Amino acid sequence: MTHVTRPALTDLPLARASVARAAELRDGPRVLTDALADRRTRVLAVRDGGLLLDGDGAVRWLDPAGARALLAAGAAVGEAGAATDVRSAGAPGDVPTGDAEPHDVWLLLGAEDDGARVLAVRLPDEHPLPVRGEPADVLVHLPDGPVTRGGWHSLRAVGAGLDAHDAGLATAAVALDAWHDRHPRCPRCGAPTRVAQAGWSRVCEADGSEHYPRTDPAVIMAVVDDDDRLLLGHAAAWPAGRWSTLAGFVEAGESAEQAVRREVAEETGVEVGDVEYAGSQPWPFPGSLMLGFRARATSTRVQVDGVEMAEARWFTREGLVAAVASGEVLLPGGASIARALVEQWFGRPIAD
Ligand SMILES: [Zn+2]
Repeated sequence: MTHVTRPALTDLPLARASVARAAELRDGPRVLTDALADRRTRVLAVRDGGLLLDGDGAVRWLDPAGARALLAAGAAVGEAGAATDVRSAGAPGDVPTGDAEPHDVWLLLGAEDDGARVLAVRLPDEHPLPVRGEPADVLVHLPDGPVTRGGWHSLRAVGAGLDAHDAGLATAAVALDAWHDRHPRCPRCGAPTRVAQAGWSRVCEADGSEHYPRTDPAVIMAVVDDDDRLLLGHAAAWPAGRWSTLAGFVEAGESAEQAVRREVAEETGVEVGDVEYAGSQPWPFPGSLMLGFRARATSTRVQVDGVEMAEARWFTREGLVAAVASGEVLLPGGASIARALVEQWFGRPIAD
């Protein structure tokens, strides 16, 4: 048996960032008001795990006027040829500004090197923009010009194609948006909470307690046996043909390494010895932090529970390539740490 020590996973699609989070800028009554009054401020729009992208697959950055128009208009859109102009529904100049403006939809994501603030605007799920990029030829007219062939795309689907600048900001925006959506009330007393710290916390109106975005740790592992075969599973809930590395949430009072061994045993009956940390990335769908591991199996007999895990198999490199080529196996998406773990074991990227 050869035990190859592999480097940590780097450059994971949703673990890249090039913009300072600038936490020191989040406090103060006018943080958002001032940012929205600054024409240099750039805003990305998020809704239900989706990002507003341009036709070229990049984040459609908005200026404050454009973001306000999108928010106020309830907006704008339609299928090809039926596009509405957001200006007709609410010109930027008509949107209230100043301290009276509701701040609970704005998130301060960070600051560029030149000091320009970067915000996200949270649009309601029912906002009438086209959903997730369909149809592809939608036109969205914003004050600074039309978005052609743009629309909403899920971060999960497009994350691998974003550059580091946009990926880091988009991941934070989607994570915060999902947390706000799911935590409108105080977990201590049930009273409504209000947004504070420019979107990075919520405060209970009744008891004053402060609450911060939840991140739930999950482990995900490339389990390899003494013949260097990789263990992949097919969960009962997944589409036909989808195979991936095993994964599961860390339970209360459990270490990540313990969770790796427990999850592998529960899902496949395989026992795991050595566990080696490989890297991590946020997975804000809605609130996970994926902790990646390489794990060495000390047994090979597979026995799935048949409920959560429908099937699990050991793959050789040749076997996996053949199964992918034939369409028998669909690998996890390019934005996932699962894909990175599989490809690190394989030694190079695998073509879908
Ligand atoms: Zn409370």
